[in-house]
Amino acid sequence: MNTFHESNFWLTTVSVPQGTPGDLPTRVDIAVIGAGFTGLAAAQVLAKRGAGVAVLEANTIGWGASSRNGGMVLTGLKLDPGTLIKRYGLEAAKRMYANSLASIDLVEQIVLEEKIDCSFSRCGHLEVACKQSHFDSYSSSAELIAREFHHELRIIPRNQLSTEIGSSIYFGGLIDETSAGLNPARYVAGLAQAALRAGATIYENRRAFHVHRTADRAFEIVTNRGAVRAREVLIATSGYTSAATPSLRKKVIPIGSFIVTTEPLPESLAHELSPRNRMIYDSKHYLHYYRLTPDNRMLFGGRAAFFPETKNTVQQSAEILRGDMIKVFPRLKDVRIEFAWGGTLDFCFDTMPHAGQTNSMHYALGYAGHGVAMATYLGSKIAERIAGVGGEIPFSNIPFPGAPLGLYNGKPWFLPLAGAYYKVLDWIS
Ligand SMILES: Cc1cc2nc3c(=O)[nH]c(=O)nc-3n(C[C@H](O)[C@H](O)[C@H](O)COP(=O)(O)OP(=O)(O)OC[C@H]3O[C@@H](n4cnc5c(N)ncnc54)[C@H](O)[C@@H]3O)c2cc1C
Repeated sequence: MNTFHESNFWLTTVSVPQGTPGDLPTRVDIAVIGAGFTGLAAAQVLAKRGAGVAVLEANTIGWGASSRNGGMVLTGLKLDPGTLIKRYGLEAAKRMYANSLASIDLVEQIVLEEKIDCSFSRCGHLEVACKQSHFDSYSSSAELIAREFHHELRIIPRNQLSTEIGSSIYFGGLIDETSAGLNPARYVAGLAQAALRAGATIYENRRAFHVHRTADRAFEIVTNRGAVRAREVLIATSGYTSAATPSLRKKVIPIGSFIVTTEPLPESLAHELSPRNRMIYDSKHYLHYYRLTPDNRMLFGGRAAFFPETKNTVQQSAEILRGDMIKVFPRLKDVRIEFAWGGTLDFCFDTMPHAGQTNSMHYALGYAGHGVAMATYLGSKIAERIAGVGGEIPFSNIPFPGAPLGLYNGKPWFLPLAGAYYKVLDWIS
């Protein structure tokens, strides 16, 4: 394998804005912990409504999953519609699916209104079937989504798949034209700029260590560099949720996901591999997702190692992902990998997003690989609610389970077992 940059390609395409200089104020209306899509979407809504907002970020703006992801702005949730209906009932499942569509509209609206130059495009997504049985299930899935959610998907049989993808290993595909793609680092930078323009403050390198109630029923957030008091707190830390908020930490499973990008491909080759420039993922549990970047690199991602990103897991994952990419696209055998990086996904034990309050603090997380749109949406919805203009917050009234038997304190000891379990499941199902 060639040598490559162990760094995030997307960050080479943008100049992320600097945070607010100086010390933390003593008091603000709302403190937001975490400067990713959730926190920044909330900050810009609140600041536009005149609230005094301080975003506290342990690292730099967009440092977390928000700058590291595949930039796929997808319809639906991680759980399939049949499971949603079975678990929550038809009416609730309809609302959830509608929320997923509304979340994409919201991203598009913010991009337009704030003039965020992030290559947002309604290019649609393509799911490709790794087995005949997976393809066979597409028709009932598409029928269910059309009948109950009034949303049309299109099935592509194997003999027509070459119009969609330059790979012959799949058994067919399912297309959703509503999904979109964007450059996530440019999007998160644009959200930060929008929040700053609206009057929010964003303090980088401020790690919240703990949050406690004060005598006047406000909150005090103690960081590595000063403390701030706030009337309301929003926890927007997703897969990086820490001991600062222990009640949430034990409900979030941080799972690594990794990405490689090739050198830029010649236009003709890029077109041959992805003729319609879709956001593509396969039908496995241990799935691969891939797309072209705006400068025609193949971006290829997956859960190659289950543990979050370290030098070791990035190195190992890059090797694995390159091999997997060549199985999908043998034409890329001699193409150089230029970048490899990883990030941490936020999964909850029921694979659902959750929003609500814990110890009187607001939170939203659990996007399970659908956070580009849903984090923007839930961050905005919570902010509207705090500002007194919003209605019910989606996903706030479903049960939020912790680990079975409470066997989890935030250190995911079971990830290797889960990884093995999903590999077996992919083998047998
Ligand atoms: C490799 C990868 C690929 C992905 N691909 C896609 C995709 O294609 N489509 C999609 O929809 N989703 C995808 N996702 C998921 C998506 O990126 C996330 O769901 C989304 O970015 C979550 O946004 P967030 O703002 O909630 O959290 P994050 O962006 O992770 O931000 C959380 C922030 O909180 C900060 N923080 C944590 N603790 C503290 C503390 N104590 N004090 C202060 N700050 C703190 C962290 O430094 C971090 O910057 C992917 C994720 C990864 C990792």
